[in-house]
Amino acid sequence: MSSPLVAPPTAGEVTELLRAVMDPELGDNIVDLGMAGEVTVSPDGLVAIAMKLTIKGCPLRVQIKNDIESRVLVHPGVTKVTIDWGEMTAEERSAVMTRARWNAKEQASDTQVPINARVLAIASGKGGVGKSSVTVNLAAAIAEQGNIVGVLDADIWGFSIPRMLNMPDRLEAQRVEGSDKPRIIPNERKVGTGLLKVVSTGMLVEDEGTALMWRGLMLTKAVEQFLNDVQWGELDYLLIDMPPGTGDVQMGLARMLPRTDLVIVTTPAVSAQKVAIRAADMARRSFLRVAGVIENMSTFTCDHGNTYELFGNGGGQALATEIGSPLLGNIPIEAAVAHGSDSGEPIVLSKVGAAAEAFAAIAQRIISETVSMQDMVGCSARNEEVVQVSVSQRR
Ligand code: ADP
Repeated sequence: MSSPLVAPPTAGEVTELLRAVMDPELGDNIVDLGMAGEVTVSPDGLVAIAMKLTIKGCPLRVQIKNDIESRVLVHPGVTKVTIDWGEMTAEERSAVMTRARWNAKEQASDTQVPINARVLAIASGKGGVGKSSVTVNLAAAIAEQGNIVGVLDADIWGFSIPRMLNMPDRLEAQRVEGSDKPRIIPNERKVGTGLLKVVSTGMLVEDEGTALMWRGLMLTKAVEQFLNDVQWGELDYLLIDMPPGTGDVQMGLARMLPRTDLVIVTTPAVSAQKVAIRAADMARRSFLRVAGVIENMSTFTCDHGNTYELFGNGGGQALATEIGSPLLGNIPIEAAVAHGSDSGEPIVLSKVGAAAEAFAAIAQRIISETVSMQDMVGCSARNEEVVQVSVSQRR
């Protein structure tokens, strides 16, 4: 093992670094939750950390491991991090759940997004990389298989979702029982055996040009309103088309829906990759998990079958490696993707061509990786009540 160039940190300094690692389900850092135990540091910079999970098979283990490594390796005196995994006793678990429940009550804002919905925010460092195209195609593919998928077009200055899904109707507000103010009712579209529930500023203003009038509106306020005032009803997934490159919306989301996973869209170009890293950095700072990277506009295959890398290659994989998240897939450039967006029929529904196949495969991966509520039993205080209900319903 090579010696570090600077002195290794003390155990206390490592513990301070670990305070930045959140258990997203428990809503607190692993030190205050009592999950991070003894820390030892050897003179050659090897850091060993004893970690106790609420249950050994906690589905968040890999994420927590990645977060610990990335936080601690930031110290230039650290050469390697090893983690010794243990499990809490029933008493420790009960103490941690009490604390987490208290935190959840203190921090959670009152969104209308059901607690069992998986929330994915589709983000990019800059505009024009295909973030909205990815959102609508994934939403359509996930819905087609019988899921109820909410789509929140948070790109309020550059909204394109209503056109891409051919859903131009104005949104209506309605009084609902149990609420003192009217709620916005999402517009719906059946897809396969499932349903899309869509809201966008594009459904509030008269035409795309009028969107300019929204410039004065605070972005975070608008997104907050969409989360709080929309009568989402039942949802299996919520896909949020994020405005490109803005940190405040991510921070707002992290506060309101800390379980949000980020999906970062980039192109193979190195320049796009650099700005995408900023989006990932922002996610880290707001403790959002990056579920993966999607490389869009990967290759172009002409009618003669020749394939060209118009925007270079490897940007998606390089970004994924750099931020320690999986590459969920590569989507080729196809005129049909743009035609699908313009006509309001997402290409993935046509099932024709490599781009449609790539979108479908990514959607499948997201569906199969979604941790079911039952699997979360004992691992999450936030979802505990939902789990109890769904488990009792299955009996
Ligand atoms: P963003 O939301 O990042 O601004 P869009 O999804 O609006 O990007 O895409 C920008 C433009 O590129 C749109 O005209 C869209 O139809 C087109 N586009 C996106 N992905 C592809 C692709 N894989 N092949 C061809 N055109 C694409």
